[in-house]
Amino acid sequence: MGSVITVTMKRRTYSRRGFIQRWIYHIVPFLTFAQFTLNGCGLKESSRKKENDHLAESCDDFTGISEADLNTRRGLGYVKTSPNSGNQCDNCNLWLPPAKDKTCGGCLLFKGPVYPSGYCTNWAAKV
Ligand code: SF4
Repeated sequence: MGSVITVTMKRRTYSRRGFIQRWIYHIVPFLTFAQFTLNGCGLKESSRKKENDHLAESCDDFTGISEADLNTRRGLGYVKTSPNSGNQCDNCNLWLPPAKDKTCGGCLLFKGPVYPSGYCTNWAAKV
C-alpha cells in the first residue's frame, strides 16, 4: 500500500476587485495619514515662524532718536535684561506699554524702544 501525500497550496487570486479592496483598505488610509502629518508639520512650522518673528523684533533700532535721548538712556544705566529679579521695565511705573502686536515699549524718561525685560537705575514700583 502506498501512501498518498496531499499538498494543499493556497492559491492566490489576483483580481481587479482584490486590487481595489487592497487599495481602499491599505493605501488610502496611509496616504490620508501622510497628508495630515505633513500638513500638521507645515502648520506648526508657519506658526513657529510667526512666533519667532514676534520675538525677533529688536528694541535696538534707534533711528530718529536724538543723541541727547541716547545719552539719557546711557546715563540711567539702561540694560536690555534686568539684573534685579522682579524689577524690570514692564513693571516699572515709568513704563509705556507696547502698541498692539509689538514687543518694544517705551519709557517716560527718554525716547526710543525699550525692552520689557530692561532695567535702569530709575526703576520705580508701580503705584
Ligand atoms: S525708568 Fe528705567 S526701568 Fe523704568 S521703564 Fe524707564 S528704563 Fe525701564
